[in-house]
Amino acid sequence: MNAPRNPTRPVRIGSVTIGGGRPIVVQSMCTAKAWDVEAAVRQIDSLWRAGAGVVRVAVDSRREADALKEIRQRSEANLAVDLQESYQLAADVAPFVDKIRYNPGHLYHHQRSRPWQDKVRFLADVAGQHDCAIRVGVNCGSVDPAQRSRFAPDDWLGPMLASALEHCERLDSFGFTRYCVSLKDSDPRRVVEVNRRFAAQRPDVPLHLGVTEAGMPPEGIAKTRMALEQLISRGIGDTIRVSLTVPGWRKHEEVEAGRRILEDIAAGRIGSQDELGAGRLNIVSCPSCSRVENEAFVELAVKVREMTRYAARYPLTIAVMGCRVNGPGETDDADLGVWCGPRFVNLKRGGELLGRFSYQEILPRLKAELDALIASRFGSPR
Ligand code: SF4
Repeated sequence: MNAPRNPTRPVRIGSVTIGGGRPIVVQSMCTAKAWDVEAAVRQIDSLWRAGAGVVRVAVDSRREADALKEIRQRSEANLAVDLQESYQLAADVAPFVDKIRYNPGHLYHHQRSRPWQDKVRFLADVAGQHDCAIRVGVNCGSVDPAQRSRFAPDDWLGPMLASALEHCERLDSFGFTRYCVSLKDSDPRRVVEVNRRFAAQRPDVPLHLGVTEAGMPPEGIAKTRMALEQLISRGIGDTIRVSLTVPGWRKHEEVEAGRRILEDIAAGRIGSQDELGAGRLNIVSCPSCSRVENEAFVELAVKVREMTRYAARYPLTIAVMGCRVNGPGETDDADLGVWCGPRFVNLKRGGELLGRFSYQEILPRLKAELDALIASRFGSPR
């Protein structure tokens, strides 16, 4: 039987409220570029019709910020803006959205001499003025470097948790409480652990749950299901996203998968953790978003999965990432990683960059590296 929900405070995001015992809200993200208003509105509305309570849109430039005004006029969806590195754009976009998502690890990229505390104050003021909620989105691949340096290199949990708690305290100190937190990792077991620890310390703060770079369906859905089952059945979580590597026209599948998972948990149909045994090849791939610079990314992710099937029995991780914003950092922890630029794909082994290859060259290069890694770690193929 599921445990009672954590007593989180209600946080309104446009016409929906998360926390406070409300039904868990499914979210998704638009992969179309905001400046392509037609395409963006089409995708946002498709997600909204599928049941997304909130749809996130990434904004990196003034042009995209300007486009949000028209998107807002043409779509009924509750909108969240993802600021990534451009926190200063918050004031321009806040009038047209319902939630501002910022990543503590990305507040360092612009205006480096300005303390992060001032930047958070600015975001809280903007959100307050424009009736917006905030999400503090902590991500395994882009943890606040100041927190990272305070912990041992192999301590993945400490910096994420400390960063989230620190930002909560800072927002609380301004009297700004209309916020939620997410702590995402590509490993579902880590998602469970870090969210359990956070919820134990801040049971009042609504949590947005998800497995980042979960990958392609069906594996991506299975990974997310595993984490959500463990957390939601313990009363943790107020909103969710199933991040899937699929083309933009299939993004509604994220919402459908999320709704199915919630229905199954509510009905007591759980137990998927047994299906995800360790000790086999793990492909992590980002869900793509408007920052993808070459549309061939999703197709490449599918080809990597096909090409690596022969190595399924080896406990290795291959990361496939769509852009240079998160690609370099989020491939560091994988045994092999590729991240995509406009014309070239970067190939990495752990934190080491092995080279840049064309979209035609990358698969055989990746296979050669995979073969070499298998030979060095496991000897001849088993
Ligand atoms: S890695 Fe880049 S393209 Fe992929 S979801 Fe993250 S920001 Fe978007």
